[in-house]
Amino acid sequence: MEIKYQSTRNKSIEMSASMAIVQGISEDGGLFVPNSFPKLDKSLTELSKMDYRDVAYEVMKLFFTDFTEEELRKCIENAYDSKFDTEEIAPLSYVKDSYYLELFHGKTIAFKDMALSILPHLMTTSAKKNQINEEIVILTATSGDTGKAALAGFADVEGCKIVVFYPKGGVSRIQERQMLTQKGQNVKVVGIRGNFDDAQTGVKKIFADEAFKAELKNKGYRLSSANSINIGRLIPQVAYYVFAYTRLVKEGKIRDGEPINFTVPTGNFGNILAGFYAMKIGVPVGKLICASNENKVLFDFFETGVYDRNRDFILTTSPSMDILISSNLERLIYEIAGEDDKKCKELMASLSSTGKYEVTEEMKKACADFVGGYATEEEVLEHIHQVYEETGYVMDTHTAVASTVYDRYRKSTQDLTVNVIVSTASPYKFTRSVMEAIEGKKENEDDFALIDRLSELSGIPVPNAVEEIRNAEILHHTVCDKEEMEKEVADFLK
Ligand SMILES: *Cc1c(COP(=O)(O)O)cnc(C)c1O
Repeated sequence: MEIKYQSTRNKSIEMSASMAIVQGISEDGGLFVPNSFPKLDKSLTELSKMDYRDVAYEVMKLFFTDFTEEELRKCIENAYDSKFDTEEIAPLSYVKDSYYLELFHGKTIAFKDMALSILPHLMTTSAKKNQINEEIVILTATSGDTGKAALAGFADVEGCKIVVFYPKGGVSRIQERQMLTQKGQNVKVVGIRGNFDDAQTGVKKIFADEAFKAELKNKGYRLSSANSINIGRLIPQVAYYVFAYTRLVKEGKIRDGEPINFTVPTGNFGNILAGFYAMKIGVPVGKLICASNENKVLFDFFETGVYDRNRDFILTTSPSMDILISSNLERLIYEIAGEDDKKCKELMASLSSTGKYEVTEEMKKACADFVGGYATEEEVLEHIHQVYEETGYVMDTHTAVASTVYDRYRKSTQDLTVNVIVSTASPYKFTRSVMEAIEGKKENEDDFALIDRLSELSGIPVPNAVEEIRNAEILHHTVCDKEEMEKEVADFLK
């Protein structure tokens, strides 16, 4: 069955998977969604005998139906290889009451690698399939982790250029250093004076600027996106939910068919939406527990049915979740509206003009697979401390948001269903906050001294991704206002 991709705001805009990947976002501002959900055509028990790459293939072939087997397998092999520091690619650890699905074993030690190590391959394959001769220019807004993962994925990829915008002062020191030291002839990194939402809105504006796009086309360029709005990022993420489930089957922790819960530290709603898609294609899921930090716009949404971004933006120790406009929620809205593109368009128009919208009672009921939760800064740091003291396991601040929320969920509901916490970053990416949590005091040493201490204390060797930037030269110096983002892109392409 061929799957087409249509805009959440206008179903009549429809195209193949490969064209949707090249385009990134629909021209009407909507997001691409599959016109129907396929089903896994192998049993979960059969899948439990496969490795990560083969499971990824079984998932992606269902969604990317216009790719040949050879094309897809080649993309997968190029992505999930020795760039990962473990054969398993996405290992599960059991700590206290929950499994942790560790998605941070890739090149930039955050879960964004799961999708961004394959996106460049999907993108260049898609361009070739559609006889697109223009050079592809990837524009990306980052709350910290996407930027580096996209830079690492696209650096020196032929036929592509990439520009990354991040909120200056809104990311961790390590995250910033990772980006600013990125090598590659085709990369540019720009700090903006503003927060992540400003960066994301700025990128969306550039995409919507028809005159600018026409000008670029004349010069032989075509814009695309590496943000999680691209289905070339979203679909590869479905694979690790299937993989996690099948590992538990393989190890005899659950029987095939038994529902499990996933708790996901959430920002832009891409990761957890992939969990929802996994459920749609046949993974038995009980609850998807959506964990927010103090920017708890999603928690409020699941409680009340009102999405309201009119509130203060809080800088937390989990910066990759400091987001008030969770772009991918639009895809859920479309689903719970019964694939009603007009309703979706109306709500998104309301979000853009008033900063809020309210879903109908019926739509709210259709969110029953989700539970919202949030954790305060104090709780998160206390949680990291406590789990370390009790078990020796060190988790990063984002994972700790999920872990804190899960603890509370388990206590308050007595739901003892097997749970998987989706662990999104290595503690080495947020060393300062993690060390302050563990040691219960303000740390005055520099980041790399803290990294060495964390290694002593956790017994986990310092990852390559961190060693690499210890002495690397800063290569990017541009900082601009949010109004100047388009100009920076134009300058880069001159
Ligand atoms: C991006 C990110 C998140 C949030 O994921 P979304 O898909 O945006 O919800 C959580 N944790 C880390 C470490 C991240 O990099």
